Amino acid sequence: MGFKRSDFRCRRSFLRLSLAAATMAGLRIATEPMLAQAARRHPAVSRKDGIFIDSNENPLGPCAAAREAIAGITPEGGRYRDDLSEDLVKLFAEQQGLKVDYVRLFAGSSEPLQYTVLAYTSPKRSYVTADPGFEAGIHMSKISGARVVAVPLTKSYAHDVRAMLSEAPDAGVIYICNPNNPTGTLTPHPDIEYATEHKPKDAVVLVDEAYLHFSDAPSALDLVKAGKDVIVLRTFSKLYGMAGLRCGFAIGRPDLLERLDNFGGNFMPITAVVAAIASMKEPQLIAERKRINASVRSETFQWLDRNGYTYIPSESNCFMLDTKRPAKTVIEAMAQQNVIIGRVWPVMPTWTRITVGTPREMVRFQAAFKKVMDGRVG
Ligand code: PLP
Repeated sequence: MGFKRSDFRCRRSFLRLSLAAATMAGLRIATEPMLAQAARRHPAVSRKDGIFIDSNENPLGPCAAAREAIAGITPEGGRYRDDLSEDLVKLFAEQQGLKVDYVRLFAGSSEPLQYTVLAYTSPKRSYVTADPGFEAGIHMSKISGARVVAVPLTKSYAHDVRAMLSEAPDAGVIYICNPNNPTGTLTPHPDIEYATEHKPKDAVVLVDEAYLHFSDAPSALDLVKAGKDVIVLRTFSKLYGMAGLRCGFAIGRPDLLERLDNFGGNFMPITAVVAAIASMKEPQLIAERKRINASVRSETFQWLDRNGYTYIPSESNCFMLDTKRPAKTVIEAMAQQNVIIGRVWPVMPTWTRITVGTPREMVRFQAAFKKVMDGRVG
């Protein structure tokens, strides 16, 4: 594979190259922006001109208190300041009623997701996931040599935990993303409990709660507290608007988390740490942002209903939209109008994922989508 000079023009080309380079090196590490960029087939659209509703980012960014904290800590940027990381872990543990050694801090939740797959899957222990689901673990399974068992969602778009267990008696990791990426749909807590109780011995149930705060779903942290073989992932990339700052947690029994330590660990950027602390101390932040996202999502759904388009109702900051034709052609036609939407999952080739943006962004999305669907462009 040869890289053209022009490929180096922008950050997005860089990310596409990162995925390609990682694959060439046999690493295949995949994060949401790398997957989004790798799926892109159209020319680059500048950040200034484009509407980016493709990577489930939060257009609001960090809250005001987090921005102030970042500005305030910059003079300390020459120090490692691991004490700040300890403060963050303590604060999270306190707020959630956990012991501190049940909480590991990472630069986002991609790393602990990947490390869990590396630690608990192998050629003998499969990786079990939903289809469609977030693909990062599938990419990691290529490194661990694990069989990937991708099980269709149920009719209500929940994880089909019974089928997941019966199709993978050799499971090492049972990955449950709640709400699911890309559908934004929920898996009932009793089903997660069922997976925990009936999984093969030595397997872990990996519950990815990246989008939990946008929904009313209960967390699976109660299962961690009950000492089950469950690892929960949390990230500041979504509701907290800190995808570019990088902060997240893996939460589980210390003996389960210990196995992740073999794969990496590093000091956290202190900007991310203080921003996370400041965000967690804002008592209204979760409710406020959940309300904003739900309101824009509901207005978007009402517009889709009025115009006769089909979508999967979602509890998250993204949803699947029926394009009634190969979705790749719609993605490209939307990009021609500088509206960058999400990717396609092979199991749903005529659907694409849309991230809930600002009201202004969703108006741009609506105008572009109607033009494409009416055949006026593309
Ligand atoms: N899990 C899911 C389901 C995601 O969609 C993402 C990112 O989009 C992540 C984990 C990882 O996010 P980050 O590494 O930014 O925390």
